[in-house]
This record gives sequence, C-alpha cells and structure tokens, in this order.
Amino acid sequence: MRPRAPNNNRHAAQRTVPCAPDTKTKEIIIVKGLTITKTEHPKAKPAKGAKLGFGSVFTDHMLLMDYTRGQGWHDARIVPYGPISLSPAATVFHYAQETFEGMKAYRAEDGRILLFRPEENFKRLNISNERLCIPALDVDFCIESLKELVMLDKDWIPEDKEASLYIRPFVIGNEAKLGVKEADNYIYCVLLSPSGAYYENGLKPVPIYVEEEYVRAVRGGTGFAKTGGNYASSMKAQSIAHEKGYSQVLWLDGVEKKYIGEVGAMNIFFVVDGEVLTPELDGSILSGITRKSIIALLRDKGYKVTERKITIQEIADAYDAGKLQEIFGSGTAAVISPVGELKWGDKVMKINNGEIGEISMYAYKTLTDIQWGRAKGPEGWSVEIGRE
Ligand SMILES: *Cc1c(COP(=O)(O)O)cnc(C)c1O
Repeated sequence: MRPRAPNNNRHAAQRTVPCAPDTKTKEIIIVKGLTITKTEHPKAKPAKGAKLGFGSVFTDHMLLMDYTRGQGWHDARIVPYGPISLSPAATVFHYAQETFEGMKAYRAEDGRILLFRPEENFKRLNISNERLCIPALDVDFCIESLKELVMLDKDWIPEDKEASLYIRPFVIGNEAKLGVKEADNYIYCVLLSPSGAYYENGLKPVPIYVEEEYVRAVRGGTGFAKTGGNYASSMKAQSIAHEKGYSQVLWLDGVEKKYIGEVGAMNIFFVVDGEVLTPELDGSILSGITRKSIIALLRDKGYKVTERKITIQEIADAYDAGKLQEIFGSGTAAVISPVGELKWGDKVMKINNGEIGEISMYAYKTLTDIQWGRAKGPEGWSVEIGRE
C-alpha cells in the first residue's frame, strides 16, 4: 500500500490509527501505507547510567520514504538502521537542498511514553520545505509513522533522569543531476538517538560573545527555515567564539548589525526590569517550539512578555542602569540555557552574578515537568503514544 499524497485530505477519515506494535512477534504492523521490516541483529543498548552525550548513538530502526515528482511520497518504510546509498550527484551534496527537525520522546516515571507538541514540528518542517522548494509532507502521516517507529524502539528511550530519545526527521534532495534547480526526487528519513541529560552538573550559565562580523541569517533568506545551510554558515563564528572561551555567539541582524536575533542555534530571552523580552519573528529568526511554549507559560503565570525588535545597545543600557536581570536561550536540546556573561566589544556584562535567574528557572522547571509527564500542561502539549 502506498501512503497518500500530501495535501490530499480526502482520505483523512480513512486513516487507521496504529496501536502499539507487538515487539514479540515478527508480524509486520501497518499504519496505512507504512511497512515495517524489523532488524534481525538488534544492537546492544547503552547501559543504564552510561554517558550518552548527544546524537552519537542510534537505535535499531529508522524510517524512510521516497518522493518522485508526478507520483508523490511513496514507499514509507521502517527498516533496520544503517547506511543509505546515494548518487554522488545527488542535489543535497551540491546545492544543500535539505530540511530537518529536532524533537524528543520522553519516558515518564510511570512508564508512559510522551512526545511534546509533535504537530508543531511537522508543520514547521513543511514551512522549511516550502522555503527550500521541497514537497510538503502529510503532517498526520508523519506523526502516526513516528509513533510506530518510537514504539518499535521504545526500549532505547533512556531511563535516566532528564535523558530522552532525540528524534531527527530530515528531508534531502536526491536527484542525480548537477543542474541548479529543485530536485525531482527526495528522501524523508527519521533517526532516533538516545541522548543524555543536557545538564549533567545542573544548569550552568554560559558566557556569550556578541558576533559583529559574521551573520547567521538575513530577512528574505532562510533564517526562519530549519535547514543545514544556516548551520554551515554559522560554524566559523561559533568556532572563533569557542577559541576565545565563549560557549556560543549572540547573532545580530544581517543589515545594520544592531538588532538581536538568536543565540547560537537557540532563541533568546531577556528579563529587563521585570519584563520578559524576546526578538519578534522577522523572517530571519527560527520560530522555536520551546520559545513559543515559554512565552505561553510565562504569560499564563502573569509575566509581561513582549515580542519586538531589541537592539544590543538597549540591552547594554539596561545593564548600565542595573535593570538587566536575566538572559537565557531556548531550544529543544537544552530547554533553557542561562547566560552568565555577555561580551559586546570591550563591554563585559555579568548577568545575575553568573547565576541562573528566577524566571529562567521557572521556565525550565515548568516546561520539563510537562515534557517528562510530571505535570499536566496545556491541552495537547504532551502526547502519550504508548507505555513501556
Ligand atoms: C531548532 C532551532 C531553534 C529551537 O527550536 P525548538 O523548536 O525550540 O527546538 C532555535 N533556533 C534555531 C536556529 C534552530 O535551528
């Protein structure tokens, strides 16, 4: 059976909702249009308490699906994890036609397996796809097939506190042709990677350096899309920052180098005189799901949260006036990353004595409690996909 083409909602009602796969049998489980081939050589899982780090261990299975122009997306399949074979002329290698997502599966203490706002990730993948001329994916199909994949490899979800199963969906252009145009063939792939707690020694505020030479993205460019090219172009500044002893750079806008964009590959928040500020989404900024969730949680708690243009100068002025209380980055991997020091030219700003602030801590705790199923969040945020 073939998965239905994207943007074809006629069959939506016919979709079979998958149940948790029975891992004891060799049966092939089918979400409409998805075939499953289980590995015959399961790998040894990392031991409980092993240092997993981030993104270097992969589970037994992965999801693949092909796109052929004229035919649509087809042949969705879960297969044993392993190398894929591509033509050296494939579009992705030459013109970087690629998009990706980053999300996590969490194991609650009571054994529930949870995703966090997965629909947001796949909607965003389509926003990125649109910008990169990559065909849209069916959001419901992506979620249902992801549930199958995660449940098949659920024993890989780490049990250690604050550890999780990192999920990396991505799409690459795969036409063997050097002409510069969008590809006629694509591969959608989903990898699962058990990852350790981001903070092994507690949330430690990091030193940040304001980047004044290189830029990450410009309005009209691809900053709002999750695409590898944005990362490739950010590596040089990142590497210089590391050499200078800073953990990330703070990006300024690409035109006037005046307005604040993001911090490393995270969104950024400031607390100035009790008000929470974050740059507005102007096309150069990635719309983080963590960002969006934090804004909602803080507003719900009664904090004033403002999305607007923020200059680096006004942050420095707030610092001089003693009003700059907290700075933190936000993203799926770290959730919250407090900033302890901000360096702009010769100016060194020490934030909250290098300690994590009250609002940063509140956002971290509230969000992680929802993600790991310790607290009930807003309707639809935490999605239970099965039990161990
Ligand atoms: C993925 C990403 C983020 C964070 O998005 P989340 O959905 O919160 O994980 C922020 N900035 C950039 C550039 C990103 O690629």
